[in-house]
Amino acid sequence: MKGSPAAKTFLSLAKAVKRARGLLLQAARSALFHSRCRVCGADLVAPGETVLCGNCRAKIIFAVENRCRICGKFLPREMATCGSCRLKPPPFARHRSFAAYEGTLRQAIILYKFAAVEPLKHILASLYLETVRRELSGAYDAVVPVPADRRRSRNDFQPLQAVARVLARRLGVPFRPGLLRKIKSTPPQVGLTQAQRLANLDGAFALGARARAAGLRILLVDDVTTTGTTVRKCAAVLKRGGARVTALTLGQTRL
Ligand SMILES: [Zn+2]
Ligand SMILES: [Zn+2]
Repeated sequence: MKGSPAAKTFLSLAKAVKRARGLLLQAARSALFHSRCRVCGADLVAPGETVLCGNCRAKIIFAVENRCRICGKFLPREMATCGSCRLKPPPFARHRSFAAYEGTLRQAIILYKFAAVEPLKHILASLYLETVRRELSGAYDAVVPVPADRRRSRNDFQPLQAVARVLARRLGVPFRPGLLRKIKSTPPQVGLTQAQRLANLDGAFALGARARAAGLRILLVDDVTTTGTTVRKCAAVLKRGGARVTALTLGQTRL
């Protein structure tokens, strides 16, 4: 039948079916990943663009401003260490965030956390990774996310855990969320003074059941830091357990 009119018709039919299937798959893919940028609404056309367009992605840049060499707080250029670190060193060796919690970075974090835009976790993981490579390079034994408040989480989606897991994999460091747990449900820190924040989180975190932190070099991960209270409380628990803690966040509010 090869070369016969029937065979030719069959072949062109097969090609048409293949083309149609390709178009359908393409449409399904763009419906799945939203074909518009979730920040500015521009069409996502470049290959590999998901959720954010290239323009918005390019606006998320690492902060090169002067910061406290220990806690990472933004400081005037002439200062190397902030007053509170000089007065009382924090329970972590160093803290660094990717940038100030504003602009496109802030929008991306909110979209990921509250709108559960899951594909963003790969973009956010690469921002954590860049921060580690630029400022916190070293050997780690465990990546530990700040534990979520179980009573406050509405569903099973644990955004911080999910992105920290990707980060750990990309760093080649064991992911050990079980080292730290939240043992007391607390109201959100938003709107509280520094003193209220500290009191609010008193006794909120503990080492995981049967967890051994002694001697571990831990990379403690949170999404956003304002006064640094949460990170401090978690680091203090791990330090009391004998670990050396380095803290890593994505965004930090300017105080
Ligand atoms: Zn955009
Ligand atoms: Zn400091």
